Amino acid sequence: MTARLIDGNALARQTRAELATRVADLAASGLRPALAVILVGDDAASQVYVRHKVADCEGVGMRSILDRLPAQTTEAALLARIQALNADATVHGILVQLPLPAHIDTHKVIATIAPSKDVDGFHLANAGALMVGQHGFRPCTPYGCMRMLQSAGIEARGRHAVVVGRSNIVGKPMAMLLLQANATVTICHSATPDLGAFTRQADILVAAVGRRDTIRADMVKPGAVVIDVGMNRNEEGKLCGDVDFDAVREVAGWITPVPGGVGPMTRAMLLVNTLEAAEDAARARAR
Ligand code: NDP
Repeated sequence: MTARLIDGNALARQTRAELATRVADLAASGLRPALAVILVGDDAASQVYVRHKVADCEGVGMRSILDRLPAQTTEAALLARIQALNADATVHGILVQLPLPAHIDTHKVIATIAPSKDVDGFHLANAGALMVGQHGFRPCTPYGCMRMLQSAGIEARGRHAVVVGRSNIVGKPMAMLLLQANATVTICHSATPDLGAFTRQADILVAAVGRRDTIRADMVKPGAVVIDVGMNRNEEGKLCGDVDFDAVREVAGWITPVPGGVGPMTRAMLLVNTLEAAEDAARARAR
């Protein structure tokens, strides 16, 4: 069997097209969704990510504000900038690009972003809302993975989902979203003995580890859905995931490629969250 591909590029394109229509509707009512992105320092990868986020916003008709702050920016100055954006009614989403320089406390920075503008979904209020199943922003990567499952018509209810990785931005929220969708969820991590014994039980397997070839063909149940979040480089410097794609696609029922899988959907879901923040603001304004 060769697995069917869940094409993240195509789904992200479709998502952006739908968003562009909703953005235009909102703009016609006098509200243009706006995302503020703060970049501290000159980390090369962060610069690329930030450029993409700004271009993505403009591509769907949203406004973007890019604040490039020097690496020596003090924590107090960064917090003051966030507070100013919190108070600015024309800004609907605020994103601080991570990682931050070592002298800045990341937790404090995230805690300063207004939960209603926390489009990364990292604030404790949004993490807590996800935990208890209330309305809030979902972290973009797992939110995008759920969209990919939906787009392929894959029902999580009653299936065994195994998530490999337990970070606060991917693994844990992924597990919570799958649980909310009524999957039975197992979370694996670096202290899990015999990873394959767990992954072989998965109807839906999500790999979010950051090490290539973590998931080999003999670790996958025939017909399983395999979502590869990992972003790694192989010996030739080519982008690859956590899954041995060529071998696993011969066993799985569905698979996401890298590149062209979860990555583009992560970017699209940031726009979804920003639009939802703006729509919430419009509803609040109308009350
Ligand atoms: P983290 O490093 O924060 O977390 C990695 C997780 O993998 C940890 O929970 C760790 O366990 C677990 N782990 C490490 N080694 C093993 C192992 N041998 N067996 C089982 N579990 C293991 O990474 P992130 O969650 O931030 O990211 C994961 C990957 O996803 C990375 O490649 C990252 O680049 C990519 N990524 C991709 C995105 C996209 O848009 N496509 C977005 C975000 C991330 P423990 O907790 O015990 O240390």
